[in-house]
Amino acid sequence: MYGKAFVKRGGGDLKMRKLISMLTLSMMAFALFSGGNTYGKCVPPEPASESEVSPNTAEQAASTSPGGFTADPARPMLALTFDDGPSAHTGRLLDMLEKYEVKATFCVVGYLVDGRSDVVKRASDMGCEVIGHSWDHKQLTKLSNDAIAAQLEKTRAAIEAATGKTSCLYRPPYGALSERVKALSRELGYLMIYWSVDTLDWKTRNADAVYKAVMKGASDRAIILCHDLHKTTVDAMERVIPDLLAQGFQLVTVSELLYHSDKKFEPGQVVYKG
Ligand SMILES: [Zn+2]
Repeated sequence: MYGKAFVKRGGGDLKMRKLISMLTLSMMAFALFSGGNTYGKCVPPEPASESEVSPNTAEQAASTSPGGFTADPARPMLALTFDDGPSAHTGRLLDMLEKYEVKATFCVVGYLVDGRSDVVKRASDMGCEVIGHSWDHKQLTKLSNDAIAAQLEKTRAAIEAATGKTSCLYRPPYGALSERVKALSRELGYLMIYWSVDTLDWKTRNADAVYKAVMKGASDRAIILCHDLHKTTVDAMERVIPDLLAQGFQLVTVSELLYHSDKKFEPGQVVYKG
């Protein structure tokens, strides 16, 4: 489960998690020896326990929140998300995010991560979120369950190798989903991240058009779909970021959006907005 109920719980579940990990390993070992085929379940990192800390100020509370989430839930927030990278333009986008001290989420293509692992690590170290967008941008609905599981798992492992962090969120390429993909994602422990605003930046390839699409769609808890593959999209961000801030928006990661949401999110679900 994601959202408050998920991330705010203390360390009490650690034993259960360890037990589940052991059981999963045993099941995998059994499958291996019995010739079956199974995949491990994605287990999100253990959230930091808050029960040991009694913060005295809001600032302390923020610094002790899991993931260091600092947004004010009383103010509007949204998540800028960038698909299909890391690309040659991602570094420049990170410079902008750093300058304005804001965060974004990168939905990376697994096989590209190794070649730009420094950029991916930098994004993660800056507090941006890195989630999967499949290994090689295949339409998951056309693959077998085994092939889908491999796409998700290989990408998760590449992200973990680059950033030291694991993610059980992913964005399906082309937004292509089916009941079978959803059921498998639930089984594998993944939450699927869709969007509430599609900038169509891949189509327009025009900074002004991307700027207008983001500003028109900006609303509290929105998830905005962009692609850092295109220079024109990154160009647009030079105006988008300061103008969203001027309108009072906090630019947060998808996980922070989920954290502040009143909704509950379970693996296998599709998230359109926070
Ligand atoms: Zn894509």
